[in-house]
Amino acid sequence: MNKVAVVAVGGNSLIKDKGRKSVPDQYEAAAESMGHIAGMIEGGWDVVITHGNGPQVGFILRRSELSKHELHEVPLDYCGADTQGAIGYMFQQSLFNEFTRRGIEKQAATVVTQVLVDRNDPAFEAPTKPIGSFMDESTATQRADAEGWVVVEDAGRGWRRVVPSPLPVRIVQQDAIDSLIGDGFVVIAVGGGGIPVVQDEAGNLTGVEAVIDKDFASALLASQIGADLLLISTAVPQIALNYGQPEQQWIDTMTLAEAKAYMEQGHFAKGSMEPKVQAIINYLEAGGKEALVTDPDNIERALAGETGTRIVP
Ligand code: ADP
Ligand code: MG
Repeated sequence: MNKVAVVAVGGNSLIKDKGRKSVPDQYEAAAESMGHIAGMIEGGWDVVITHGNGPQVGFILRRSELSKHELHEVPLDYCGADTQGAIGYMFQQSLFNEFTRRGIEKQAATVVTQVLVDRNDPAFEAPTKPIGSFMDESTATQRADAEGWVVVEDAGRGWRRVVPSPLPVRIVQQDAIDSLIGDGFVVIAVGGGGIPVVQDEAGNLTGVEAVIDKDFASALLASQIGADLLLISTAVPQIALNYGQPEQQWIDTMTLAEAKAYMEQGHFAKGSMEPKVQAIINYLEAGGKEALVTDPDNIERALAGETGTRIVP
């Protein structure tokens, strides 16, 4: 039986730099990353691919905002669903072409994934995640009054809406993902951290205007399906101590205990590397076997132990 990996691909798998944001550019970047993941699959791994969607949600919100005199606006949970579909489509098509080229008999399927959050999560009392365009103060106040938005002044750059970032509690589509993997499909799921939903007393789900961290949701999925590996593919080949400073030191391997200690010493930047290391800590503490952090180009080399940062219990 093949080993199962959850591969969380970061923003650089879709947008390489500010000048390359268009859909064809995103497809090209996606195809490149999927080529490396196909190599991993050819090497014997069963893979669930998860991904971010921050910029793509931003684009939808901006379009929605610019056309609101004519069309309904798009709620945040629908932006999540739209981007899961569109990004899943890009990944499926590039994997199809890659499998054809390599003669691999595999099919990829995207699961629109809802992720349960706790309506009492303290994050709902203190929204932190900026969403949508910058606004002037009067627009911000107006939308706050009319729609209950929480808005904040962002370091002199203008006003922005902020939404809560609650912790993922349960991957609603977990059984579907598990069955697809068991049947040999490559699965694309939990895009953008999943569409956040809450459940009422009767058991009904409703989407909420919030954003779930994709690394936290990927780690939860990896634990829930008992994955053998959590691979986080991002913009750096390895994790570093004293990142960006003269005494910077790349890490080849660290234990769970070391990861926690380095985290406390502040080696991992908030909002970028820190949530990744925290997600890995969560996965390993829940019984996970191994985690790996590297960039898309180095996935195969990292799996062979030649680069990347490996984190073990
Ligand atoms: P993603 O889209 O993959 O989630 P992020 O930008 O959120 O990417 O996080 C990856 C970034 O974290 C890297 O590009 C790097 O600049 C930054 N980073 C912060 N601290 C570290 C560290 N200690 N080691 C390596 N990278 C770090
Ligand atoms: Mg990130």
